[in-house]
Amino acid sequence: MSETIQAIRGMNDVLPADSAAWQLLERVARETFAEYGYREIRLPILERTELFKRSIGEMTDIVEKEMYTFDDRGGESVTLRPEATAGIVRAAISNGLLHKQRQKVWCSGPMFRYERPQKGRYRQFHQIDVEALGFPGPDVDAELVMMSARIWRRLGLTGLRLNLNSLGTPESRQGYREILVAYFRGHEATLDDDSRRRLGGNPLRILDSKNPAMRELIAGAPLITDHLDPDSAAHFSGLRARLDAAGIEYVVNPRLVRGLDYYSRTVFEWVTADLGSQDAVCSGGRYDGLVAQLGGEAAPAIGWALGEERVVELMRLQGRAGDETVADVYLVLGGAAAEATGLQVAERLRDALPGVRVETNCGGGSFKSQLKRADRSGAHYAVILGEEELQRGVAGLKPLLEEAGQAEVAVAELATELARRVVGRDRG
Ligand code: ATP
Ligand code: MG
Repeated sequence: MSETIQAIRGMNDVLPADSAAWQLLERVARETFAEYGYREIRLPILERTELFKRSIGEMTDIVEKEMYTFDDRGGESVTLRPEATAGIVRAAISNGLLHKQRQKVWCSGPMFRYERPQKGRYRQFHQIDVEALGFPGPDVDAELVMMSARIWRRLGLTGLRLNLNSLGTPESRQGYREILVAYFRGHEATLDDDSRRRLGGNPLRILDSKNPAMRELIAGAPLITDHLDPDSAAHFSGLRARLDAAGIEYVVNPRLVRGLDYYSRTVFEWVTADLGSQDAVCSGGRYDGLVAQLGGEAAPAIGWALGEERVVELMRLQGRAGDETVADVYLVLGGAAAEATGLQVAERLRDALPGVRVETNCGGGSFKSQLKRADRSGAHYAVILGEEELQRGVAGLKPLLEEAGQAEVAVAELATELARRVVGRDRG
């Protein structure tokens, strides 16, 4: 036997037993977006490396050390997308979608970051991403947050907390940056190595430090919310008023800075206490400068992305992972004649009962082993076709989930009888 080939570290298979939860999440998100008037956009997974350098920022963790970048056979540097926003903005500009228009769009799919794999942090992971391009807010900011809250409600998830902050404009942030640098310079002895390095390049990132030794110093740092320009402050209170009116609870967290350079004004993050240290399930923010930065005509924009692996894990932990059954009806086929007609009987049931899952026993087996498979499928009913029954034109209808006796039904009446019994019951 040959040696087996392993998957690449940090890249996961979603196995059949787990796909129901993924499908449920994706269906709920898709339906919710449609209900708010957002349309799907589908984009390449591979983009020019330049796109991410110019949008995410050269000094960020993603661009410095996490991108899957390689030269294609033509010698062009290309990168597997680490996030979706840059591609969406690129597509909107190059297809003229922002010319005298605004766009509300969503997309989903795999993202790639060369991070240290651990629970909740992978090298290929999946995001559901939503963006509103051309809207200055704060109304659309509130709408986007409300949309995420609706998705949690529809999935039945609890315990999610919303952190909210405003980063102001790049200009007002510059003023705050100087105040922050002055503060940290006054305590240079307390800074750890990482923070000392960031002091010159990206001092706001120090606020994001997870080092406990830095906690007290960070707690005493000046707050960005105290240094917002008047327009950003008005924008922020406009957003808060709308969330208050919608009954959405949040915590203003002046330490929330987010890891990408392109954010301005609103930033937010949904966190949970249930997932350990990888606690952010959905994050986003406003990026009013990005469209112009990528060569488009200036247009305000905002969006968020949720991490599907983390949300699916939360669904599993909270018992909301969806229906794991495979079939509603399982056809047990006894003998050659039944095997010969079984596929046809199943086809007619599917014709008559769209959406009802009909599994036919394939590959033969004893009556007992077929009934065992029927049980494992989760089906409510086994339809039993045997030699003797077939000759009389009837089938056995055996309830599998309740203590009721087996009934005899004419094969011609099976669909009607199953419709009566199956349709109407909650299939999750
Ligand atoms: P984190 O702080 O956990 O690194 P992030 O700020 O890098 O997250 P974003 O780039 O905003 O996250 O991506 C949005 C969401 O995608 C996150 O809230 C998280 O749920 C998910 N996510 C990000 N990176 C990963 C990863 N490597 N593996 C799994 N999910 C991820
Ligand atoms: Mg990250």
